[in-house]
Amino acid sequence: MTNIFPVQTMPFLTSSTEDPFLKKKMAQRTAQHQLRKLHTIEEIEGSIATVDSTRFINFSSNDYLGLSQHPHLIQRAEEYLRKYGTGAGASRLISGNHLFHIELEQALAHCYGSEAILLFNSGFQANSTLIPALIDRDGALFADRSCHSSIVHGAVHSQAQLFRYRHQNLDHLEELLYKHSESFSRILILTETLFSMEGDVTDIDRLQQLAEKYRAHLYVDDAHALGVIGRDGMGVAAFKPEISYRIGTFGKAFGSFGAFIACSNETKDYLVNFCKGFIYTTALPPSVIGAAMGAVELIPSLANERRELLRLAHLLREGLKARKLQTIDADSQIVPWVIGEEEEGIRCAEELKALGILTTVIRPPTVARGMTLIRFTLTKHHNETHIRQLLKAIDGCSFLARMGI
Ligand SMILES: *Cc1c(COP(=O)(O)O)cnc(C)c1O
Repeated sequence: MTNIFPVQTMPFLTSSTEDPFLKKKMAQRTAQHQLRKLHTIEEIEGSIATVDSTRFINFSSNDYLGLSQHPHLIQRAEEYLRKYGTGAGASRLISGNHLFHIELEQALAHCYGSEAILLFNSGFQANSTLIPALIDRDGALFADRSCHSSIVHGAVHSQAQLFRYRHQNLDHLEELLYKHSESFSRILILTETLFSMEGDVTDIDRLQQLAEKYRAHLYVDDAHALGVIGRDGMGVAAFKPEISYRIGTFGKAFGSFGAFIACSNETKDYLVNFCKGFIYTTALPPSVIGAAMGAVELIPSLANERRELLRLAHLLREGLKARKLQTIDADSQIVPWVIGEEEEGIRCAEELKALGILTTVIRPPTVARGMTLIRFTLTKHHNETHIRQLLKAIDGCSFLARMGI
């Protein structure tokens, strides 16, 4: 058979890379030491990740319960795949609304404690398109400064007035609400429950009180808590239908991919009509729905795994504190080592990498200036030995010597 794509008819393959717009932006990034690069994970085996033929203990995975490799999820994904095929065929409003979507929404409504659930293709897609659907230029948004980029993206796109309060500073939030809420007919407070960078958990009860006092709706992103904390491990906002909008994602502890909003039936009907990120996209494929169904079935029974995960996180936090290193207290599987200066953070992460530890440096603008941190995420695959190895590697960082520790 002749090649139907002869290379010479594809001039784009030889197009010039000299795009001055891109070049200038990339040069700026490089100058700021903020150029990002993709690293290929060649193999994942429990807590060990192989990158560039080197084995590392992986402290940067969100697969908190190890479910992405769990036989039950694989079996459910396979089952759905064989029964229903590889694709949903269309968006939900056209002809892509299958029985398996409805079944997952109902199962989630039951397990998360919600009148209704509406699936989304990803957490980013959910946040970035839900917020513009839920408010317009006449409303105001009050968002924690550490909110995920997808929330900020949605907030900016909504054209509502955006106020940002200092991370987890609910006094500051109240100050802003007191000062500005009267001027707006509709108000949303935007936050994460378990913050992805700092690993701290927001005071949901106080937020609910504030929301009530200032006639605001709460919009909370439960992405990192789902599967790990809360009733049946279903998240901080599980079984709290008084919270108007609750977001969960399947990419983290759920071990696969996708997202949802938990809301009222009224809101769901509205979103099916008004949320572009729901309307104009192909529905999630059967295998992904199968994996998510597998996770919903499994997660309530994983209380022991959750307890062990949080015990290890506690051990790590205590280890950092014993070394007079700064961390943020919380009962969560995300443990930050707050280093402060950006260059110090980068150096520490590189030194840890040389000692076989894979982590993530979180720098401004993701966190506030002077708050550069190394984030350790723990998973089911870690044990006490891993924590000891990590602390030993931390002891080897030149930062400690410079700090006189
Ligand atoms: C990961 C994350 C998202 C994005 O979810 P995806 O399904 O990966 O797109 C949204 N919000 C928060 C808080 C997250 O941590």
